[in-house]
Amino acid sequence: MERTLILLKPDALQRAIVGEIITRFERVGLKIVAAKVVQPSKEQYYYHYETIGKMISRRGQEVFDVTLEFMQEGPVLAMVLEGIEAVSLVRKMVGTTEPKAAAPGTIRGDYSHISFNFANSNGMSIPNLIHASGDLDDATQEIAHWFTKDEVFEYDTVHAKYTQGKK
Ligand code: ADP
Repeated sequence: MERTLILLKPDALQRAIVGEIITRFERVGLKIVAAKVVQPSKEQYYYHYETIGKMISRRGQEVFDVTLEFMQEGPVLAMVLEGIEAVSLVRKMVGTTEPKAAAPGTIRGDYSHISFNFANSNGMSIPNLIHASGDLDDATQEIAHWFTKDEVFEYDTVHAKYTQGKK
C-alpha cells in the first residue's frame, strides 16, 4: 500500500470546495490517514517546493517566487491518503499542472481553467487547487516534512476488502 501527500491550496479553502474534493478521494476507496489545517512559513514551503520538489530548476525563479507568495495567502489543508499505487492514482485524479490543459473529470480540469499564458503574462502563480506528490520518493519526503509519525494513523476501514483488496 502506498501513501501520498496532498495539500488543498489556499484557493480551495477560499472557494469552499474542500469537501467536494475530499469526497472524490473517499469515493475511489482511498483512506485518509492524516489531516490538518496549517498556515506554513516561507521556509516550510521552500523545503517543500525546492529542497524536495526542485521547482526552481524546473519552472524558474519567478514562477517559484509567485507560487510561494500564493501559497502563503491563507491556510491549507494537508492530508495523507493511502491506497493501492496511491501516488500515481492521485496524480491522475488531480490532473496536469495547467488547468486549461487538465482533462475533464480531474480536479484541476473540473474546477479551474486558467492557462500558463494567462498566468505568465499576469505574473501570477496558477491557482490549481491542490498539490499531490509527484512520485513515491517525493511522497515519502513530503509526508515526513508535513507530519510527525504520531499524526499519521493506521486503522482498518469496513470497505477495505472491496476497495483495497484486504484479505
Ligand atoms: P504540480 O503542482 O503539477 O506538480 P509543479 O511542481 O511544477 O507542478 O509546480 C508547482 C506549482 O507551481 C503548480 O501546481 C502551480 O500552482 C505553480 N506553477 C507551476 N508552473 C507555473 C507557471 N508556468 N506559471 C504559474 N504557476 C505555475
